[in-house]
Amino acid sequence: METVGHKLQKEFLKKSQQLGKIPNAFLFVGKEGIGKKLLALEFAKGLLCQKFEPFGCNGCKSCRQINSFIEALKKGEEDKFFYYARGDDGKKHFAYLIGDHPDLAVVIPDGNQIKIDQIRELQEFVALKPTGKFKVIVIDQAGKMNTQAQNALLKTLEEPPPGTLFILISTTMGELLPTIVSRCQVLEFKPLKPQEVKEVLKKLNRDILKEVENLILEEGSFDLLKVENENLFTILSRLSRYSNLTFEEIVKLAEEIEKFDTEEKELFLKLIEEELTKKVVNGEFPLEVFERVKPLLEDMKVGLKRGLKFKLAVENLLFTLKGF
Ligand SMILES: [Zn+2]
Repeated sequence: METVGHKLQKEFLKKSQQLGKIPNAFLFVGKEGIGKKLLALEFAKGLLCQKFEPFGCNGCKSCRQINSFIEALKKGEEDKFFYYARGDDGKKHFAYLIGDHPDLAVVIPDGNQIKIDQIRELQEFVALKPTGKFKVIVIDQAGKMNTQAQNALLKTLEEPPPGTLFILISTTMGELLPTIVSRCQVLEFKPLKPQEVKEVLKKLNRDILKEVENLILEEGSFDLLKVENENLFTILSRLSRYSNLTFEEIVKLAEEIEKFDTEEKELFLKLIEEELTKKVVNGEFPLEVFERVKPLLEDMKVGLKRGLKFKLAVENLLFTLKGF
C-alpha cells in the first residue's frame, strides 16, 4: 500500500471489498495533492487482483500491470496511455487513459473539460464484459465534466452494467449535479498530517526547496509540486532582497512573473505570503506593512481566476514591499 494517511477511508474501502458491498460509484472529495487518485487506483488494483486481495497482492499479473500504470502516471507520463476514439463529427478525439489492464480506465479532462464524447466512449467501455469480476473507471477532476457530460454519466450511474465501479474524484461536491452525488458513496478526505507529509517526502526522495517544503507541511497537500518552474525559484530568491530592488528591476521581474502559468502564479503568491509571515514573526518585517500587503495578495489570488492584470498587480505589490 503506497497511499499515506487516510486510515478511516482505507478501512472503509477494505471492508466494502471484504463484505462484497461495493457501491456502483464512489466520490472521493478533498483537497488536491493528498493522495485521492492514488488510493482510487490502489483500490481498483485490489478489486482486479487475481487473489482479490484488498489494495492488491502486488504479485499477480493483474497487480503488476496496474502497478506499472500507476508508476507511469506518478511520473506524469499520461500521454503513453491516451486512448483516442472517433466522435460523431468523424474526427478522432481523446477519450480516456488505459494501461495494460483492460478493465481499468482513467478519465482526465480533454483540455479544461471532460466532454460528453468522453463519457460516451466510457459507456462503450463499460458495455464490454470485464475479463474478471470488475471494471473500474476512475474519473479524475470529475468537477470538470460539463453539464452534458454529467447528464450522460448520470444515465450510466442509474443503470450500470453489473460489476462496474466508478470512482469520481473532486475537490468539491459543488460542481457536480446533486443527482450524481446522490448516486455515489461519498468519502471525504482531509489534508495530510505533518507526520504523513514527512513520510511522503521521504518516499519521494527528491530535492525540494525548504520554503516549498514548509508550505507543503502547512497545507497538508502535495499540490504545489506540480509546479516545476526553476525560474520561479530563482525569481523568488531575487525577491527576498525586495528592499534593494530598483525601479527597473521591479518592472523586469513583474514582466517575467507575468509569463508564469496560473498554477505557478498561485505558488508565487503563496511563497511570498509564507516568507513575509515568517519575517513578521521573527520581527524582520513590520506588521503594519504586512497588513497592507496581505489584502493585495488576497486580491491577486482571487483576481487570477478573473483575468487580473497580473503584471501591474505584481509591480504594485513590489513597490509596496519596497516602500517599508
Ligand atoms: Zn494481485
